[in-house]
Amino acid sequence: MTFPISALRSARRTVKILPTLGWHYTCPCCGWSFNRMYPQHGHLVPRPNARCPRCGSLERHRLLWLYLHAKPELFAGQLRLLHVAPEPIFRRYFQSLPNVTYVSCDLFARNVLLHSDLTALPHPDASFDAIVCYHVLEHVPDDQHAMRELRRVLKPGGWAILQSPLDYSRATTYEDWSITAPEDRLHAFGQEDHVRIYGRDYKDRLEQAGFHVSVDMYVQQLGAAAIERYRLSPNEAIYMCRA
Ligand SMILES: [Zn+2]
Repeated sequence: MTFPISALRSARRTVKILPTLGWHYTCPCCGWSFNRMYPQHGHLVPRPNARCPRCGSLERHRLLWLYLHAKPELFAGQLRLLHVAPEPIFRRYFQSLPNVTYVSCDLFARNVLLHSDLTALPHPDASFDAIVCYHVLEHVPDDQHAMRELRRVLKPGGWAILQSPLDYSRATTYEDWSITAPEDRLHAFGQEDHVRIYGRDYKDRLEQAGFHVSVDMYVQQLGAAAIERYRLSPNEAIYMCRA
């Protein structure tokens, strides 16, 4: 097993990992282990063993959980954090951190602090030290405007994890504004409410909005055994964007 558990032990906030007792898969978000996870449907290619039966995490959530816990420096000092379209797993985690002032934001969800379109955030410039926006931009028609807004409200030196599903076989992002029906978008973009499929130019689009972007293949550092145990996507990069 190549998982660098020592790295997690050295982290300020360690991942709670229960003994696996022979179970095949472990969810780092809730710490439970299973012989099977739930498949994830609703996409063009269903994914077996994708959703944690206990906390509902998907591959991308488990990767982010491991990443954040391996990078305690991201949470050094007092932080004002904007969490867009908050996932309950991470909402609970961020709210548990005593040094984090937590601001949740969503256009439609009821239990958030702020109802706002990402293209018109009400905050002054440089309002946040950190932003987590996970699998949101593929839903936003004017994503370039949303990226510029996120850049605008991020403080100099701040960080933003702006993650979107990518098709690495595409050099450029695929959009077709004549496709509007949900069933057509499912066929074209992989989900009824997606408006594009990002290609390898995703980093360029973020940089055009003013971010300094590093594409972190952290998942590969974990090794094949951990990728299998935690049911991660082996090709998913973390897009770490800095102001
Ligand atoms: Zn779980």
